[in-house]
Amino acid sequence: MSQTERVYSYSAVLMGSPILLKLFGHNEALASDVFRLIKQYEDLLTVNRAQSQVMSINHAAGRQAVDVSRPVFELIKCAKAASMLPGSAFNLAIGPLVKRWKIGFKGDSVPPADEIAALLPLTRPENVVLDEAALTVFLTQPNMEIDLGAIAKGYIADRVRDFLQRQGVEQGLINLGGNVQTLGSPEGGWSIGLKKPFAQADALIGSLEVENKSVVTSGVYERYFEQDGRRYHHILDPRTGYPLDNELESVTVISAQSIDGDIWTTLLYGMGVKKGCAALRNRPDIEAIFVTGQREVILSSATLFRFTLFDKAYRLTTGSTA
Ligand code: FAD
Ligand code: MG
Repeated sequence: MSQTERVYSYSAVLMGSPILLKLFGHNEALASDVFRLIKQYEDLLTVNRAQSQVMSINHAAGRQAVDVSRPVFELIKCAKAASMLPGSAFNLAIGPLVKRWKIGFKGDSVPPADEIAALLPLTRPENVVLDEAALTVFLTQPNMEIDLGAIAKGYIADRVRDFLQRQGVEQGLINLGGNVQTLGSPEGGWSIGLKKPFAQADALIGSLEVENKSVVTSGVYERYFEQDGRRYHHILDPRTGYPLDNELESVTVISAQSIDGDIWTTLLYGMGVKKGCAALRNRPDIEAIFVTGQREVILSSATLFRFTLFDKAYRLTTGSTA
């Protein structure tokens, strides 16, 4: 970034998350338009209020198909496709378990094992039935619930990017509480911090520089609770109904589209480091940074970004040598 360019930051709280917009040049009206756009998508997609298009689908579970708008249909279609991948840890029908655990919300606690077992049959993604011609979504079993918490912020970040582009903005950044999408390439690129898990909010392991890329981080350290000395975080294993249990403390995905980053953080969480690096060898358009509880930082590869390690207590390796 040159000395003459000044970054203006605008913030809001939407979707229960801190939202940050960065622009070159002061433009309050544009920032308001961006926050209004995010709010419109929140109103369509939220499952944290009684009413939204997604809640209409959930309320009609086991009874009838529901008409939805094209963007909601396309997002659900994409979420279903990710859920149907063989061995996928992503599941758009995870709603009943998310609602029961309440992780990150008031009243979170470990549910009895028999309750979890009873909810698992309500989370089958194949029971989310889509009709492309009619633009409807039908949950075939009563009490099924769609939850788009692991994909919607990525989708919305891409829509904000598109909107800014249409407004003629050449350089900008939107951060939807861990889902970053960037436009353009200020001198030196956009610098994005990699947070140190379970440390003070501003403690960083390192930083990455990107241009025209999305950077999505999903971690076990933001939304969790502790009970009887154990930690329970918000990314649930669709196979067991319990939080995914492996070596990972965070996964960051670098990609062109933030929706891909959001989907892949969840997929990679399910795969772990070794399988995750192997899977990404077939996807040169997507790269990941894994942070483990053993203080390792593992880059699947690093052609889409540059990484700088700050915290020397961590060991930096790449997937090929891990
Ligand atoms: P990710 O790792 O990308 O996703 C984790 C989230 O996805 C979980 O919180 C859960 O919702 C869901 N999930 C869990 N396991 C799986 C799985 N195996 N497969 C698929 N999905 C899974 N938070 C509030 O506190 N208050 C609000 O009012 C609120 N409103 C929201 C409205 C919208 C439209 C959205 C998109 C989010 C909202 N949130 C709200 C935040 C939401 O509850 C999640 O915490 C958030 O989306 C998680 O994003 P992430 O990137 O941190 O995690
Ligand atoms: Mg995600």
